Amino acid sequence: MPHNMKILLSRTQIADGVARIGQQITRDFAGESVILVGVLKGACLFLSDLARQIELDATFDFIAVRSYGTQKESAGEVQLIKDVTTPLEDKNVVLVEDILDTGLTFSFLRKLLLARKPRTLKFAALLDKPSRRQMPVQADYVGFQIPDEFVVGYGLDYAERFRNLPDICVFSEDR
Ligand code: 5GP
Repeated sequence: MPHNMKILLSRTQIADGVARIGQQITRDFAGESVILVGVLKGACLFLSDLARQIELDATFDFIAVRSYGTQKESAGEVQLIKDVTTPLEDKNVVLVEDILDTGLTFSFLRKLLLARKPRTLKFAALLDKPSRRQMPVQADYVGFQIPDEFVVGYGLDYAERFRNLPDICVFSEDR
């Protein structure tokens, strides 16, 4: 692990949180099918582990957005760069995100996906930084609430690096 990293959530803690969310989704949609929509690229590891903890008929799709700003701060503008390919009308959709921060991305995606008229739309976020919220949104399923620190690993990047770290780490450039 690089010297300027400190583990915030270990791989074992992450696995426990993912399993808990998988059980909640399995229970909430018992007897039904779900479409898991992962937000690229950050949610790809979370989605692949979560999917294996969901005991339901499940399919996957992916969506990608870009938010403008510096590498660590969103500037408040979200743009769609890849849409889902599955029709969502009358389906149970679970949007799967790595982290809920200001809420701008989720607000944008919620509006976009609700326009497709799903039967239900739920939102699973592995991490939640409630202190940073700018929009009045919350996730239906949350793995962990974390303090206002910039984290990398388990899908989360800094300038596209560190997504493959198995633990979630606080990253600081100056240590
Ligand atoms: P929001 O739109 O809620 O502010 O931010 C959501 C997106 O911002 C996440 O999907 C993620 O890409 C990015 N983000 C927010 N906080 C962090 C963080 O601590 N680390 C990393 N790597 N990305 C973050």
